[in-house]
Amino acid sequence: LNIRPHGINELTDKALALAQDRLQLNEISVRKEYLKQDVMIPADEDKVIIALLNIIINAVEAMTPGKGLLTLQTAKQRDKAVITISDNGPGIPEETKTRLFDPFFTNKPKGTGLGLTSTQNIIMNHKGTVHVESEMGAGSVFTIVLPLNGENQ
Ligand code: ADP
Ligand code: MG
Repeated sequence: LNIRPHGINELTDKALALAQDRLQLNEISVRKEYLKQDVMIPADEDKVIIALLNIIINAVEAMTPGKGLLTLQTAKQRDKAVITISDNGPGIPEETKTRLFDPFFTNKPKGTGLGLTSTQNIIMNHKGTVHVESEMGAGSVFTIVLPLNGENQ
């Protein structure tokens, strides 16, 4: 890992930029609810961007074109940085939720099932956690929690 201090707003924006074509193609609206002042985390920039991008692309693929709303939030909770990625797609059934992060688990005809596995590995390598909450018919929320810069690691 190539660990340097990076802002979570900055990292989220960079992932968003890489998804821009897909977002436009599917006419997805984007809402940003960012910290006014960015906070730094020790991160391998490229890896964390990939971790976020995997979740963003899944959200885009889950939402109905023209009706999608992608919400990106950043927050600080005690000594943790929190990044939340929400969609208004169909949600994730319980039986799927338990297998979501398993290698090669996919519901897509041409899916690899490696996106969320890779995301989880990257976040774990940064001493963070990723979890999902979802309501059928309402959407899904992926939450990534990472240690802030300066914490003992
Ligand atoms: P892939 O995208 O190749 O299928 P992933 O590991 O990225 O593999 O995702 C695994 C599965 O999790 C997807 O096939 C999909 O069924 C489900 N999934 C992931 N994100 C979402 C989401 N935002 N809404 C609904 N289902 C999702
Ligand atoms: Mg995927």
